[in-house]
Amino acid sequence: MMEFNGVQFDTYLQHYPDKNGYFGPYGGSYVSEDLQKAMDEITHAYHTICHSRKFIAELRRIRKEFQGRPTPISHLERLSTSLGGVQLYVKREDLNHTGAHKLNHCMGEVLLAKYMGKKKVIAETGAGQHGVAMATAAAYFGLECDIYMGAVDIKKQAPNVARMKILGANVVEVTHGLQTLKEAVDAAFDAYCKDYENCMYCIGSVVGPHPFPMMVRDFQHVVGEEAREQFVEMTGHLPDAIVACVGGGSNSAGFFSGFLNDPVEIYGIEPLGRGTALGDHAASLQYGTEGVMHGFNSIMLKDENGDPAPVYSVASGLDYPSSGPEHAFLRDLGRVKYDVINDDETIEAFYTLARMEGIIPAIESAHAVAYGMKLAKKMGTGSVLINLSGRGDKDMDYIIENYGIR
Ligand SMILES: *Cc1c(COP(=O)(O)O)cnc(C)c1O
Repeated sequence: MMEFNGVQFDTYLQHYPDKNGYFGPYGGSYVSEDLQKAMDEITHAYHTICHSRKFIAELRRIRKEFQGRPTPISHLERLSTSLGGVQLYVKREDLNHTGAHKLNHCMGEVLLAKYMGKKKVIAETGAGQHGVAMATAAAYFGLECDIYMGAVDIKKQAPNVARMKILGANVVEVTHGLQTLKEAVDAAFDAYCKDYENCMYCIGSVVGPHPFPMMVRDFQHVVGEEAREQFVEMTGHLPDAIVACVGGGSNSAGFFSGFLNDPVEIYGIEPLGRGTALGDHAASLQYGTEGVMHGFNSIMLKDENGDPAPVYSVASGLDYPSSGPEHAFLRDLGRVKYDVINDDETIEAFYTLARMEGIIPAIESAHAVAYGMKLAKKMGTGSVLINLSGRGDKDMDYIIENYGIR
């Protein structure tokens, strides 16, 4: 059994978060009284509906027949040989329907909305990936879907906006403030607050007020559970280390949750972007301090007024000024080590994985690949399992325009 600072990991998933949504000092629910009523309703529904036999069976069937789960693990033989003796493997979340892990929690959240009798789901999106996954889930279950998106992001992310519309979602343009993700979150929360009896708000990562960090982790747990079983079956042993990228922290939270009680080194990788100056990166666990934003307490990057700081990463899915409360807790306990990878290392890994293994990764996932490669060189022997959170098709235009066809 693994124990870190008095926390025992054999029963960890049952005890964390506590009933108020806390992972140690982090998490909770910092919202208005009105919104708290809605959060309590979702928490209650989650504990009753999502643990019912009927819900579990239906979600399992959907994962198999619609999403294409289980996703496989691939052994990166050529890349491993080129780096020395360590064997690298990837969990192929890029092969999930829609091309990333996000659909794992979106299908769970929207299925819950359906069981709760809601007519509509509401969400915000920045780069559009969460919006596309939500629009997909809403189309599958036949629910209305409103996606709030800043006007600036709508212009930048035309292909994802088109995808959402083709899938039948209503894209609501947000035109105040900086017209990006933060304003979209506020607008989505406002709309939800006004009509929570008919709607369900679905968050895009392990962030926001309780119960979202718990609920999204639990829906992503399938990634870690499958990966552990598949890896042992494939190799006869556990990996020595596992690696995932951390933005809000959903793909990593689900992946890590399958290995917390194992003698496995766990690494969460944040984006260092252009460098260590505030505004040039989005490595919140590395450089942030404790604070409350978007309804939860965690470690965040703040500007001089204590507000969420502007952040940057070459991977638009990682540029969030905080991370889920569970990551802050696992960091403090020392169970997970958090480190950084910059833009240049990421792009290098992007091309290397494509050339040597025939897999074009999402730029987000390439952060984890870059760290896995570094780790392999350092370790000399053993095995590393990397969570490949998504595929790079969405990034092709950006890569060609900025880095060319190498
Ligand atoms: C959105 C996204 C991420 C970042 O989100 P997490 O919640 O940190 O997992 C990572 N990889 C891909 C492919 C994404 O689309």
